[in-house]
Amino acid sequence: MTARILDGKLVAAAVREEVRVRVARLAERGITPGLAVVLVGGDPASQVYVRAKHKAAHEVGVASFDHSLPAETTRAQLLDLVKTLGDDPRVHGILVQLPLPPQIEATSILDAIPPEKDVDGFHPDNIGRLAQSRPRFIAATPKGCMRLLAESGIELRGASAVVVGRSNIVGKPMSLLLTNASATVTVCHSQTRDLPAVVASADVVVAALGRPRAIRGEWIKPGAVVIDVGINRGDDGKLVGDVDFAGAVERASAITPVPGGVGPMTIACLLENTVSGAGG
Ligand code: NAP
Repeated sequence: MTARILDGKLVAAAVREEVRVRVARLAERGITPGLAVVLVGGDPASQVYVRAKHKAAHEVGVASFDHSLPAETTRAQLLDLVKTLGDDPRVHGILVQLPLPPQIEATSILDAIPPEKDVDGFHPDNIGRLAQSRPRFIAATPKGCMRLLAESGIELRGASAVVVGRSNIVGKPMSLLLTNASATVTVCHSQTRDLPAVVASADVVVAALGRPRAIRGEWIKPGAVVIDVGINRGDDGKLVGDVDFAGAVERASAITPVPGGVGPMTIACLLENTVSGAGG
């Protein structure tokens, strides 16, 4: 079997088009959705992500406000900025790009973002709401994975889903979303015993562990669906996922490529959250 490729670029383009229509409707009411993007320091990968977010926002008519701060910014200065943005009526979404420099502990900053402007969906209020099946903002990457699964017609009800990774930004919200979609969910992490056996039991595998090609093709149950969230840079400078694509594509029924799978969905869903935040 050779798997169907789940094309994130295609679905993301459709999501962005929906966002554009919603932005136009908001414009009729005199509202321009605004996204504030805060970057502290000059981490090269973060700079690339932030540029991509500004560009994507611009393309759909979302106003984006760039707040690039020096690496030596203090926690108090960053908290001040978050407070100012929280009070700014032009700003409907606040995004603080992670990682932050070592002198700033991320949790206290993310907790200071007003939950109704937390378009990243990382605030405990938003995670808690998701856990109770009454979400406000859902973290963009897991939200994008769910949209990709839905658009691809993959049935989750009753399916056995394995999420590898339990981070607050990907693994945990992903496991909540799959649970809410009535999958039977197992969450794996670095202490999981016999990861290959757990992965081999899954109808749907979501790999979000940040280890290049760690999920081997031979672990995949024939016919399973594989969502690869991983973005790793290989020795040759090329992007690779957390799944051994060449092996998995021979056993899965459907699989996301890296790049071109989950990645494009993340930014599209971030824009969607921003428009929702503006009431669109
Ligand atoms: P993270 O915070 O480093 O979390 C990694 C998780 O994987 C942890 O729960 C860790 O377990 C688990 N893990 C690590 N090694 C493992 C192993 N050998 N076996 C089983 N579990 C293991 O990473 P993240 O922020 O969730 O990101 C995960 C991946 O997704 C990264 O490649 C990242 O670049 C990518 N990503 C992509 C997008 C996108 O837009 N496509 C967005 C965000 C992240 P413990 O909890 O026990 O430490």
